[in-house]
Amino acid sequence: MRSAVFIALMMTVGQAMAWSNHAMLLWPVVRESSTLMEERLVAEPLEAFVRAESDAIADILEEVEQWSVEHIEAYPITPAELRFKPAQEESSLGDFLAAIRVNPDLEYGLFRQGTIDDTESDEGTMGWRQVSFLGVQNSTRDLVYYPLKPGDVTNPAHVLITANDEPDHGMDVGLYADNGTPFGEVYGFGLQPFGNPNLDYSSQAPFHMGFYHLDWLTKRVESDLLRTLPAWRIRLYESLAGLAFRTGHQYWGWRFMGWALHYIGDLTQPYHADPLPGVSLMSSIWLVVQGKTADAIQLVSNRHGVLESYQFERTQKAQAAKDWRGPLLSALHFNEDACLHSGTDIIALTGGSEALGRHLDHTLAQHAPPRFVDDASFEWTGSGYEAEVDRLIGIFGGEQALVSLDEELLTHLRRFSFFTSGWVNQALAFESGAAGGCPK
Ligand SMILES: [Zn+2]
Repeated sequence: MRSAVFIALMMTVGQAMAWSNHAMLLWPVVRESSTLMEERLVAEPLEAFVRAESDAIADILEEVEQWSVEHIEAYPITPAELRFKPAQEESSLGDFLAAIRVNPDLEYGLFRQGTIDDTESDEGTMGWRQVSFLGVQNSTRDLVYYPLKPGDVTNPAHVLITANDEPDHGMDVGLYADNGTPFGEVYGFGLQPFGNPNLDYSSQAPFHMGFYHLDWLTKRVESDLLRTLPAWRIRLYESLAGLAFRTGHQYWGWRFMGWALHYIGDLTQPYHADPLPGVSLMSSIWLVVQGKTADAIQLVSNRHGVLESYQFERTQKAQAAKDWRGPLLSALHFNEDACLHSGTDIIALTGGSEALGRHLDHTLAQHAPPRFVDDASFEWTGSGYEAEVDRLIGIFGGEQALVSLDEELLTHLRRFSFFTSGWVNQALAFESGAAGGCPK
């Protein structure tokens, strides 16, 4: 059990992107599956799905609402005026987006994210600016998206990897009452509980981090840390996926499962399951007594950022070299026997992530240059060192530092692919009509 006493108010948990570029991380897991690469999904606009199934959507959203009230601590109920109302003339896409309380400024259009294996020309492709209103970062600068038209045929692998990154396009940005957006004022999420206000995507943090194992003191003193929502998002999108599969909208079945998968990937990372990994209850009380809590939070935030930059650089370079059989990319393999359900499975997986936090935090502190991981006056995000992180760690700690960090990274990538595979198997079970999803 870890503690985070008195930290929410000054929390600078900034790197709420979790793994950088979820699509790139998922691609090695799915690319060799003939089942997932089979061209069998017909691209359909979201609005067409909403119009065709409005009655059933209203029912399923009501079910999710009831489940969330019963199972999610501090769940902010959906305001009555936002509830999806079926069969009223034409239910619009806007009503649906408001009912599921996502950012309505995104188009939720039809496209797929490019991979290293694409051989098609770049003509007519889009970049990050065409799919997101968020600023370009080191990990998004070179992304390529292929537009799809309604009726185009695609496969589950491409739909999954694309959808898996979409929640980082801004779906959960600006949803709180104090975020200065018209929808934030009516969505019923209240004031933003934590997040670094200097980052344009910080308001998504409470949707992408799940602090489901806080100790009793933190729960009492910092109850805002209980207001994390990924378990709700996962259940919501899983339920919509189930409906889409049952009613013959296979493309949306896979895309909704991909949206849910994003949050599962986030929660496999210790920094997304524990506000202060490696800090015990007594230590955090001592930090408070010494007035050093803000420093501790900044260090954790920087280590979190260094981990993501390192993960991105290592996995991107391995993919660029097509080193599919090397240790990093073979850690990202598909596990046929895994199975993951929403609800208690998700809470359990965050417990496992939390347990690995102390070791991860220690490894980063030991092997990365002190300026990056041990200097509370330094801010990693936007420092300009992101793209060079592996080279600089090599200069500082030599080959041994890279070996140790790679070993640490492998532990987390293996967990990522295990739980990801479990969710993909759940999607395959839904697609085949198996009641109850994949077998445990
Ligand atoms: Zn995320």
